[in-house]
Amino acid sequence: MKLSRKETLKIIRGKTAKPITSGVDRATPVAAPSTKIKNAQTFTTVCPYCAVGCGQIISVINGKIVNIEGDPEHPINQGSLCTKGNALYQIAYNDRRLTTVLYRAPGSDRWQKKSWDWALSRITRRIKDTRDKNWTETEADGTAVVSGVEPPKQQSQQFIVNRTEAIACLGGAALDNEECYLYSKLARALGIVYLEHQARI
Ligand code: SF4
Repeated sequence: MKLSRKETLKIIRGKTAKPITSGVDRATPVAAPSTKIKNAQTFTTVCPYCAVGCGQIISVINGKIVNIEGDPEHPINQGSLCTKGNALYQIAYNDRRLTTVLYRAPGSDRWQKKSWDWALSRITRRIKDTRDKNWTETEADGTAVVSGVEPPKQQSQQFIVNRTEAIACLGGAALDNEECYLYSKLARALGIVYLEHQARI
């Protein structure tokens, strides 16, 4: 069959139009993903462990998670998960998972269970005390030039710095963008200058 240039272009356009259209369709709300597990309801979520952000499908029966697997429709992982993401089920059900604060006093050989309120108050107190004891308000800089003197002379000048070098902050890959933003805001408001992120190191 001999095709004109116009007819050829029409066929090519027809072939390429399909994926573009289906891409638009995918952007509209979709039903819960199908599951191989009978009677399970499915939900999509994002793995909380690292900044890769793999998509997952959670299967639930009677309010209990029965399976977590990679979401084949997710653009990042396309169904695959690393070993950590594959073991996410254990974050929901695992007898060995710690669910309370454990505290070991200096010199002690045993752990004590503590409340979250106790832990938060203690952390806050320790941060405040460390910051107050190690606060640098101003710092001298030797670059100021004294005018009207020959030859020109440098003189130390004080600058306000308001910082503490006694506390360091290390963010983890489990933090998302918004949490990192808030964490760095808090650190800087406290005058902390050693601010790092595990994923950058
Ligand atoms: S921990 Fe693994 S599964 Fe989870 S987001 Fe990171 S790479 Fe993906």
